[in-house]
Amino acid sequence: MNMHTRTASIIPAEKSAAETFLDELFDAGLLIDTGVDGLYGRSGAFEDVINAFNGLVAKYGAADKATAIHFPPGIARRLFEKSGYMKSFPQLAGTVHSFMGGEADHCSLLADLEAGQDWTEQQQATDVVLTPAACYPLYPTVAKRGPLPEQGRLYDLQSYCFRHEPSKDPARMQMFRMREFVRIGSPDQVCAFRESWLDRGQKMMASLLLPLTVDLANDPFFGRAGKMLANNQRDTGLKFELLIPVTSEEKPTACLSFNYHQDHFGSLWNIRSADGEQAHTACVGFGMERVALALFKHHGPDVEGWPTEVRKLLWG
Ligand code: AMP
Ligand code: ZN
Repeated sequence: MNMHTRTASIIPAEKSAAETFLDELFDAGLLIDTGVDGLYGRSGAFEDVINAFNGLVAKYGAADKATAIHFPPGIARRLFEKSGYMKSFPQLAGTVHSFMGGEADHCSLLADLEAGQDWTEQQQATDVVLTPAACYPLYPTVAKRGPLPEQGRLYDLQSYCFRHEPSKDPARMQMFRMREFVRIGSPDQVCAFRESWLDRGQKMMASLLLPLTVDLANDPFFGRAGKMLANNQRDTGLKFELLIPVTSEEKPTACLSFNYHQDHFGSLWNIRSADGEQAHTACVGFGMERVALALFKHHGPDVEGWPTEVRKLLWG
């Protein structure tokens, strides 16, 4: 090894803007490092912002009188398997495993732990999978209720979600909260719902004095076949995102998503409209941590210093 390469190897690589922002969030105590990228504690101040934003979303959605449901951050494995998630996003899924052996197995597990060897193989899959998107447990629940009423249905969901996408970008977490309004009904009903939230979402985020754009988007479908699915999703305008620069001007962060699934979930779960047709579905998703991060980025780490207008909207 010559001097040049030796020197190069000890100079730390320059930090990305995302990593620098993550350090700032740790230093301000807004996020708490756990040693795993994308898995953070949240401070009281951070949670206050999320709660206040939740209140604002509730105000914008109040007239629709959605039915609220809070699912835990896990979905029944049987339902997850049927959802097709492993076909589209195997790289993001997280399953819950537990030890189910006897005493001898326990001894060998402890020995592996002690020796620093892999002990996780001695666990087995439980009936629980981590929820990948707040709306996943909803569709089978709605299907069980029988045909939809004439006016369809509208739900208001909140859940912690898991996606295995470790990153130094604080806006790309492994465990984060999603609030979703989910509309289930005829194509006209669900498209009108998505249109109205595309409009409301922009007004709401602009009122918080955040710079935003709305653009066509696609989900990160896995593999070569996934590329085609992603292109098709874009070409047919099935997914839009509301983007706000958080760690990069060139690559702004998707803070809200507006998805039209056509009859994908309706057919999969056999959800029927009042007239017997397969139901169509659409959802608008709010990335709660991403919105909080956008606010901290643009208005500063101390909420006391935020513009009065924004504070008023959030805290009345
Ligand atoms: P999606 O189902 O991918 O459209 O996600 C819905 C919303 O959740 C997005 O608009 C984001 O705001 C948020 N979100 C998605 N992935 C993450 C992540 N890894 N970390 C934080 N928020 C996320
Ligand atoms: Zn959804």
